[in-house]
Amino acid sequence: MIEPFPGQVQGLRSQNRRAILAAIRRLGRTARVDIARETGISAPTVTSITADLVAQGLVEEVVDEESRAPGATRGRPRVLLRIRPDAFLVGGAKISEDHVTVTLMDFEGTESQHHVIEARLLDKTPLEVVAHLRRATEEALAETGRGLGDLSCLGVGLPGFVESGRGWVYWSPCFRARDVPFGALLEEAFPFPVFLDNDANLAALAEQWFGYGRGVADFIVVTIEQGVGMGIVLDHRLFRGTRGIGAEFGHVKVERDGALCRCGQRGCLEAYVADYALLREASMALDPGGPPIEPRAALDALFAAAKAGDRTALSIFDRAGRMFSLGLANLVNIFDPGLIIFSGEQMRYDFLYGARVLDQMRANAITVERPAPRIRVHKWGDRLWAMGAAALAIDGLTERVLRDIPPREAAG
Ligand SMILES: [Zn+2]
Repeated sequence: MIEPFPGQVQGLRSQNRRAILAAIRRLGRTARVDIARETGISAPTVTSITADLVAQGLVEEVVDEESRAPGATRGRPRVLLRIRPDAFLVGGAKISEDHVTVTLMDFEGTESQHHVIEARLLDKTPLEVVAHLRRATEEALAETGRGLGDLSCLGVGLPGFVESGRGWVYWSPCFRARDVPFGALLEEAFPFPVFLDNDANLAALAEQWFGYGRGVADFIVVTIEQGVGMGIVLDHRLFRGTRGIGAEFGHVKVERDGALCRCGQRGCLEAYVADYALLREASMALDPGGPPIEPRAALDALFAAAKAGDRTALSIFDRAGRMFSLGLANLVNIFDPGLIIFSGEQMRYDFLYGARVLDQMRANAITVERPAPRIRVHKWGDRLWAMGAAALAIDGLTERVLRDIPPREAAG
């Protein structure tokens, strides 16, 4: 550990608190000696800081059952530390265009409840969307006999251009208004801190905490459902950009003056591969004079037609796949990730990650002697995204609690 200058001591101590808490979260049940090894912080400092964290109720001691098992070495059973699950009850919510998903989690990250309400949000005002979110949250809590007063904080994921730190929504497909102080509306509607972020960022957090991204330093999550999103984790940290609108993979341009996108611009990737883009084409390919068909059913019908060899349907998916592979190749050339995770409902339609698309991606990406990024497909639905929102809330709450711990007189 680097020796601090006088005056840097308190800052260093709070930095160490963060590092130790993060290590316990990452390692699960763990001994102090392992925390010291993992973080590079001295054993006496680990002992002192973990005592603070236990006193604060964030961490608890548990007896290592293995050290008590028959045949284990005699002596006092080993004491391990873990995040105290019932320190806080945390909520995570994913707002989609036609439903709201809420998950409830303990502070250690174990999900206890999961609830979905149907709600067609497209033509609603931001305040009406907040009201739907509040109803979904209250219903999730009620199912376990609890109320809003039992919740410590809520993380919320919203599609669109969202600046997380400021709680600002430049644009979202979930409501018509632009430039909405959505975070402030959420804070007014709930009696606890609310943390807002772009939903694809939360998919990346969810993969990092609970999914394929665990322990991976650099990875990219590409989400495809109503729209196309991306979350970037670089050196174990979520990358958001300066204004929070980085990583908008769905709006990279794949064709000059191309198809019209929901964001108002033309030629965006999303305008070729997202649900609404395929539906726009499907309405021409499927029986145009027939009765109106529900969007999900129309997509399924289009997919079935392509599988059966229908040339028009095949051409729609083929074009979407080519556009997608072009976008992916650009990603690989910029970030050189070790892993790309495809996540979302749309993953039902395997044309987007079929061998052909991946071959085209590799053909357009820089090739070296080492292997191309690993590709994994994760067909989680909105539950994953809501869990990512809860992870965001746990992070935000942890930061607030650590900030409120009164600094000690002497640094350990
Ligand atoms: Zn766009």
